[in-house]
Amino acid sequence: MTRKKNGPAPRALRQRLLRWFDRNKREMPWRGTKDPYRVWLSEIMLQQTRVPVVVPYYQRFLQAYPTVKKLARAKSVLRLWAGLGYYQRARNLHRAAKEIVRKHGGRFPKRLEDALALPGIGPYTARAILSIAYGQPVAVVDGNVARVLVRLFCLTEAEVDNRPALQPLAERLVSRRRPGDFNQALMELGSTICLPKIPRCTLCPLERLCAARQAGVEKKIPHRQKKRPRPRLELKVFVIEREEKVLLVREAGGYFSGLWHFPYTTGRNKSGIRANGYEIGTGAGRRVATVEHTTTMRDLVLQVYQPPVRAGNRRAVSESNRHTRWVRLNRVQRLGVGAATRKVAALLQEKRRKQQREDVAGRQRPAS
Ligand code: SF4
Repeated sequence: MTRKKNGPAPRALRQRLLRWFDRNKREMPWRGTKDPYRVWLSEIMLQQTRVPVVVPYYQRFLQAYPTVKKLARAKSVLRLWAGLGYYQRARNLHRAAKEIVRKHGGRFPKRLEDALALPGIGPYTARAILSIAYGQPVAVVDGNVARVLVRLFCLTEAEVDNRPALQPLAERLVSRRRPGDFNQALMELGSTICLPKIPRCTLCPLERLCAARQAGVEKKIPHRQKKRPRPRLELKVFVIEREEKVLLVREAGGYFSGLWHFPYTTGRNKSGIRANGYEIGTGAGRRVATVEHTTTMRDLVLQVYQPPVRAGNRRAVSESNRHTRWVRLNRVQRLGVGAATRKVAALLQEKRRKQQREDVAGRQRPAS
């Protein structure tokens, strides 16, 4: 990493940045709290997810589990996470809560090594929690902070993805007096002012200190790496109906691990279809819809089939239990289902309503 020019003096940078943050920070329900549990929960939910999406989930989650101990005692937290995506976060949160109760007396640990040993806690999250909740002078480097630092110091060889290389610089800059606010301010600057493609330099409190701006290269750095194409996965999803209810299943692995979902298969077999261990029948039935859904990991294409109810699937999916459930279509969303399953249910409901309207119109039409 080399510098073309000297960047801002740390003291001036801290002063300007914190003054700007005090006046301009966005309102968020977790802002201002020093409760480590709340800080931790917000940091986990904010991974890969935008603030407006997180807010209602955060509030509902805290209502249900106001303390680490209550969270640790929960049977499953996926119902309240349903729709937020990236469900491994929820599983890890739950496991970490149990560990915190068992090993740390129910309080988020203060030592970096202990925090890093918890499930789902990486260097960024651990430092964010320790600085915000406990006032420890440790710096965070997420994607936003990396971009701001590369521009402020005009770091020509640093790719924005090489965060460990930026950590020592961030540690030198972080405010000893207000480390949590400093970290949040730098992240806030990156997400509202120092934007990836077109930085809003005229609104930036650091404009006069910024080496990239002074050199006129603020839009050229950091050099963006080419995005790798996202993996695309096609699933056959089966909507099996019985007495106006549809079958949902739940299992420990697979693409919807721990969430209720329609049975699915990735196989190309045309007969004797089994999905998630359930015999669907000898044919997939007719395809009724195609639903596309983007997750943090991949693009999903769900080909939705309605197989005829045959002896096979009736026997295999007899009654509701821990792993199978018969649910009315309009109640699917009340279970812990992911966004893809919600989309399928909503689409089928809409189709049903349309069919009903057409049936009514057909009956009312005078015979010619
Ligand atoms: S002056 Fe522009 S490039 Fe520099 S930190 Fe501010 S917004 Fe980013």
